Amino acid sequence: MSFEFRILNFEFMENNILQIIYLIASVTFIAGLKFLGNPATARKGNLMAAFGMVIAIFGTIFLYTTETGAHLHNLGFIFAALAVGTVVGWIVAKKVQMTAMPEMVSLFNGMGGACAMLISIIEFKHLAEVDLSTVAAGHLLTIVLGLIIGSVSFAGSIIAWGKLSGNVKDKSLGMQQLINIGLLLVILVLSGVMILGNTAYTVELFYAVFALSLIYGVLFVLPIGGADMPVVISLLNSFTGVAAACGGFLYDNKVMLVGGILVGSAGTLLTIVMCKAMNRSLVNVLIGNFGGGATGEAMGSANFDGTIKEVTASDAAILMKYAKKVIIVPGYGLAVAQAQHIVHDLELLLEAEGIDVKYAIHPVAGRMPGHMNVLLAESNVSYDKLIEMEEVNPEFTTTDVVLVVGANDVVNPAAKTDPNSPIYGMPILDVENAANVIVNKRSMKAGYAGIENELFYKPKTSMLFGDAKKALTQLVSEIKALG
Ligand code: NDP
Repeated sequence: MSFEFRILNFEFMENNILQIIYLIASVTFIAGLKFLGNPATARKGNLMAAFGMVIAIFGTIFLYTTETGAHLHNLGFIFAALAVGTVVGWIVAKKVQMTAMPEMVSLFNGMGGACAMLISIIEFKHLAEVDLSTVAAGHLLTIVLGLIIGSVSFAGSIIAWGKLSGNVKDKSLGMQQLINIGLLLVILVLSGVMILGNTAYTVELFYAVFALSLIYGVLFVLPIGGADMPVVISLLNSFTGVAAACGGFLYDNKVMLVGGILVGSAGTLLTIVMCKAMNRSLVNVLIGNFGGGATGEAMGSANFDGTIKEVTASDAAILMKYAKKVIIVPGYGLAVAQAQHIVHDLELLLEAEGIDVKYAIHPVAGRMPGHMNVLLAESNVSYDKLIEMEEVNPEFTTTDVVLVVGANDVVNPAAKTDPNSPIYGMPILDVENAANVIVNKRSMKAGYAGIENELFYKPKTSMLFGDAKKALTQLVSEIKALG
């Protein structure tokens, strides 16, 4: 066997091993996603997909060969970047509070968008250095799509991160819809001219599209506030997936393509589910026509019929101890107070008394999709106790006591009764159908959507004021004291 033949054979083998690694990685992404669909297996799914990503990265670094047979160079830079990214990502993810998770997701998503954007810029520069007039339109289309989607995703995610962390305020220019649509049209027309026109200004057009896409990303997210934020984060997530898939096309890299398509389609599905849960149309999301501003202070005045009725922990304890069926409604305040463990203690205590106890889970309770499931899983609440909104709503009529813990918007009847409310049309938990409603929160302040809640003024409702952890701890000891 000649020396050259052996080298060729070795390269062939390396390439085959790499393709097998990509195949295994793709399978772990798909299986991981499937496992992520259930809180009981989510951790396993995450680890599985992470393993796939690690072998795909190291496989590419060590086994990828170019057409000329060269391996990747600049390994020093690659490993330095990997080390910095791993350390920063690890520390940030370890330190992040559960309530700040959406901010972190936005920021990380923005980094993904930035990667896709940079890939497009670098590949375009390579082509421009040779001869742009010989580049196939399809090739340029992939680069430009990656550029537009990656830039919108990057700029939009950074604004979303700023807004969620309170550093960027909601801001709507006059005629926001028209401006956004106009900008999108200009981007599409310029891209079309660049790809099909074969003009002498391809480079200028490319950078104009780049700049306008960044501006569009900012304008797209800036006016969005209140209850619609999760939809946008999920949509930007799907954009990043599509942008990464463009990179996969560009490099003919199957694992990048599969990963990108999975993120893109999962993000799109989540967006649709969230739109339904919050009663927003996807078209409204796309043109940036969002309602609801998160001000923290309640909008409007409390001119509902009825007065506020306060309840003490000992009276609440009596009501609950003698109930047959109790439904707990967890909300954002439960997460803020870190009251997930004490709420589980309460559940066990009531169950020991023979009371039927369940949790009603609204799809947008908290500040991120699945927030309540993750939180309650932390304190080992059994998954079959977490009942989704559609399933639990008919059960309230047969419930003796509903205990709302730090939830507000997701139980606000205005979503059904007030067409002028920013949350009008959003499906809610029908807690007012229960015999008694106890609401635990610290004050009469509004929730995320910044609006009054008529539920608190209903005759059936009693307010148990105080921090959720403290109030529930007191409730648990009062129930125990009843013997
Ligand atoms: P809300 O934000 O409507 O209400 C939470 C309530 O918790 C507040 O009224 C607050 O009242 C109370 N609270 C805060 N801290 C504490 C504490 N330490 N102890 C007790 N109570 C406390 O929460 P919901 O879960 O009802 O609704 C979620 C909202 O967030 C929806 O509008 C949703 O659209 C939006 N959203 C959801 C996302 C998601 O993906 N899940 C992402 C982004 C936004 P007080 O200050 O008086 O204590």
